Amino acid sequence: MELKDTLLKALRKIVPTRTKDSILRYEDIQSEVLKNHKDADLNYLATAYAFGAQHHHGQVRKSGEPYYSHPIAVAHILATNKLDLETVAAGFLHDVVEDCDVSLQELQERFGEGLAQIVDGVTKIGKVRYRDKLDSQAESYRKMILAMSNDLRVLIVKLADRLHNMQTLHHLPREKQIRIATETMDIYVPLAHRVGMSNFKLFLEKLAFLYQEPEVYEEIEKQVNERHNRAKAKIAATEKQIKALLAEHGIKAEVHSRIKSLYSIHKKMKKKKTGLDGIYDYYAFRILTDSVADCYNILGRLHGRWHPIPARIKDFIATPKPNLYQSLHTTLAGSEGQPFEVQIRTHTMHRIAEEGVAAHWTYKQGKLVSLGRDQHSKWLKKLVTEQDPETTSNDYIESIKGELFTEEMLVFTPRGEIKTLKPGATVLDFAYHIHTELGHKTTGARVDGVQVGIRAELKNGQTVEVITSKSQKPTEEWLSFVVTSSARAKIRNWLNSVKKSESIDIGRTLFEKELKKAKVPLKSVTTKTIQEKMKELSFKKVDDFYSAIGLGNLTPRKAALPFIPEELQQKTPSSGEVRESRLRKALNNLTRQSKQQVVVKGQNDILVYLAQCCSPIEGDKITGFITLGKGVAVHRSDCKMLKDPNLDVERLVEVQWGHLDKESVFNTRIVVYTEDRRGMIADVSNAVTASKTNIKDFNARSDDGKHTGIIHLVVEVASLDHLKRLTQTLEKIKGVISVEREN
Ligand code: MN
Repeated sequence: MELKDTLLKALRKIVPTRTKDSILRYEDIQSEVLKNHKDADLNYLATAYAFGAQHHHGQVRKSGEPYYSHPIAVAHILATNKLDLETVAAGFLHDVVEDCDVSLQELQERFGEGLAQIVDGVTKIGKVRYRDKLDSQAESYRKMILAMSNDLRVLIVKLADRLHNMQTLHHLPREKQIRIATETMDIYVPLAHRVGMSNFKLFLEKLAFLYQEPEVYEEIEKQVNERHNRAKAKIAATEKQIKALLAEHGIKAEVHSRIKSLYSIHKKMKKKKTGLDGIYDYYAFRILTDSVADCYNILGRLHGRWHPIPARIKDFIATPKPNLYQSLHTTLAGSEGQPFEVQIRTHTMHRIAEEGVAAHWTYKQGKLVSLGRDQHSKWLKKLVTEQDPETTSNDYIESIKGELFTEEMLVFTPRGEIKTLKPGATVLDFAYHIHTELGHKTTGARVDGVQVGIRAELKNGQTVEVITSKSQKPTEEWLSFVVTSSARAKIRNWLNSVKKSESIDIGRTLFEKELKKAKVPLKSVTTKTIQEKMKELSFKKVDDFYSAIGLGNLTPRKAALPFIPEELQQKTPSSGEVRESRLRKALNNLTRQSKQQVVVKGQNDILVYLAQCCSPIEGDKITGFITLGKGVAVHRSDCKMLKDPNLDVERLVEVQWGHLDKESVFNTRIVVYTEDRRGMIADVSNAVTASKTNIKDFNARSDDGKHTGIIHLVVEVASLDHLKRLTQTLEKIKGVISVEREN
């Protein structure tokens, strides 16, 4: 038989074929609604039907049927599943926004907020494209769909829509059948399961399985039927024995038996790598009774009559499944050793198992009302203990939502991949999430087609296309608005690496200058010769060596010394030595001052000086470090130098700011990042002077390629407050991007 015929033959058995005479009409839906909602507003329903008919008029489905047959079928599925009036009406109208250009506003005005929101959600989900079978992607899609279903009725309408589309999938080309069936299996079947709607789940799963593997489906169906025909008599006999046992003990209950789903049998056969003969529980008995007490009573009676297989006794009444399924399961060894499974539950539990979330509430005049009574509501109460009985239904939905809806935000790439981000994440966070290099170059994005800046906050479900520029680079300021820690870390890394590479450049220049001064030919000091000396100098890499010089942790003289032949050494004091001696003088000055400025805890006469590397200012948190022969160096507590893993922590001491002279000032280094414009340097230096601050050093350079300027300043400040005021003044200058204190 051809594939197509195999498929159609199997399909005919599970999907009602509608002839011209049995075609669904409005009256069919109305009578279904009336079965469950006796006082339903039929005028509302009929108006919704007519509105849909009018707008879909003239549209045709692939099958050649009028398009409106589809919304009618969806409304019918919803009505037979006992859904409320608004949801059924939404079935009629679920495609009018997408296919007929009806506005949401019009729907809202005519049919109310609730219906409009359902249709809006269904339309949005329709635009989600599933492309990837990766488990994590599939999970993300499911979350995405749930997130769009603010009202769980959105999901129910979507499932009904998918169910009807699956029933009519054979009109589409084979390729599309497989794509849609795969999407159904990966996304919608688990969703239906998650909200406990097993009737939807089983039907969708069966159809998806059939479309995915028609031949396998047919083969399993054939085998199951053959085996069932052979076992029928035995099953009937067992059923009779169960009924007799229950009657004997005066227990009122219904006993049914059924073949399990073909797909679950197929999965088990694949997992156990066996034929159907290896699957003994291909069918199961189901016993429905009135009370929980009866359920346990029945279990006890069955175990008295047949031997239960211990590992297979499951109490889902005491511990419901996450989707709130409740039942007792047991597998009993039959008289001829053939085991059979029995599921025992109350009628209410059964209804919940079949209808899931849809069984739990109904809407009356727009108000959410629980359908549950008696033990049903008792059970709900158990679920949300100590709650007002009036609100249990709401709470139930909230508890489901709580599990389903995550604290995550899901957004799309232009290719339809889903990315999970923290709520509040910005365009820049998104870009860094995709790729570090992309983040560095990001200047903005098109979000759902609208251009926005890097700071724009993203929202669930948006499609984000990042815009980049070659000349873009991260700045300190970016740290102030990104919300994800990974973006923050990536920006920091970049900034640090730039600082490092700058210090390497400076270090190399100073080193080479020093060699020149000592008349050492540069050619004789190759990277290789430097590398050979690295161990001796206790550096791992040449870059670290240069960087140490650039950062001032190693004087150029000391660095160059090992490379200067003895005959050239110490003929003249190097500039480095001159500088060192000048530095010492300055330090001595500071030391004299600082005797009053900084106090070492518990010590009176110890020499104290302010460390040059971080130049602390009165008000900074400070830590002392005993230097050999020089006294106590006072560092800012956050100074890099103190974070050196090789630091001798024994030498750290507590220090405090002492009484300050009115005149005492501190040198501090700041960097001003600016736009490169005429007059910028003058504006900055004027502003510093105007704020009564002395400038000790001033060095400006511009980065031509990037049209930015960097101004390094050494200024005298009296305190941290003084520095803060200065920083604020500078930040107000037009064109100043940021002002930072150098460490
Ligand atoms: Mn549809």
